[in-house]
Amino acid sequence: MTVTSSLSTGKAQDFGAGALIACDSLVRVFRAGGVEVQALQGLDLLVEDGDVLAIVGASGSGKSTLLGILSGLDTPTAGRARVVGHDLSAMRGAERVHYRRSTVGFIRQQSSRNLLPNLTAAENVALPLALAGRGRRERASRSAELLGAMGLSDRADRRPAQLSGGEQQRVSIAVALAGAPRVLLADEPTGQLDAKTGDEVFAALRAVNETFGCTVVVVTHDAAVASQVRRTVAIRDGRISSETLRRAGLDTNGDAMLSEEEFAVLDRVGRLQLPNDYRNALHLKDRVRLTLESDHVGVWPQHPASASPVEEAQE
Ligand code: ADP
Ligand code: MG
Repeated sequence: MTVTSSLSTGKAQDFGAGALIACDSLVRVFRAGGVEVQALQGLDLLVEDGDVLAIVGASGSGKSTLLGILSGLDTPTAGRARVVGHDLSAMRGAERVHYRRSTVGFIRQQSSRNLLPNLTAAENVALPLALAGRGRRERASRSAELLGAMGLSDRADRRPAQLSGGEQQRVSIAVALAGAPRVLLADEPTGQLDAKTGDEVFAALRAVNETFGCTVVVVTHDAAVASQVRRTVAIRDGRISSETLRRAGLDTNGDAMLSEEEFAVLDRVGRLQLPNDYRNALHLKDRVRLTLESDHVGVWPQHPASASPVEEAQE
């Protein structure tokens, strides 16, 4: 145990040094009415500059909590998060305001909170620019440029209620891009949309990545959306439990296809989460035997009958 803890502190300095987003043992505990909820339980995550990352996970697994911290709205209880060189736990006052205006763009899960109902699409996009002190001409041209990039030039003068759900989400993306952020965070942006409209919104997010070079982190329930990105991480109980990587290749007929492979995630101190179905299939519980082979590690159930008293005494 002492070996484990000295390893974890020894590596903490340079963890994820080259990554645009680095979450290091992130913990977020909520206390409400005497009840404690551990929404994030030591989450590690690295995201490279220019990537599109999908985050999936059951309801309540901590996805929105993670995006809340990355957006600068919330702070971790423990652990560290660094985004584009900003240490999110240490950030105060003016730096935090600047971070939220021009380092990250955030599309919240509650879509009604992304747009002001009494402003037009163009005015919604211009608002963050006005708050940042930009002049009227710059606001107008930037707003027109972003709505154009989202295919909404002919909707600029409409209020949210006069737009479809998919159009509202694309305006929300334009608003989030107003400050030219390096990172775009989107919390279930296709959650309330039908499949076709959801595809359009997701295509808009990918265009943001390709056109503006924004790094995109998108939380989604939609397996079809997750399957379109190179990298998907799954959160379980406030930690990354598995990761799926996809790459373009050719199938046996020579047609283009995405091949995918799912990996379990080994954290920096060597912890590994075994999937529930594996644990149940072999009744793996409490204690398991590990064996080191030349090219893999074996995990074996502890059969009480085969355990010698000497081994038991040593455990
Ligand atoms: P997800 O987005 O994956 O559905 P959340 O991050 O919203 O999950 O929530 C993770 C856990 O933290 C849940 O158990 C949720 O009830 C709890 N939680 C989230 N926000 C708060 C809060 N402000 N106060 C108390 N508990 C919260
Ligand atoms: Mg959520």
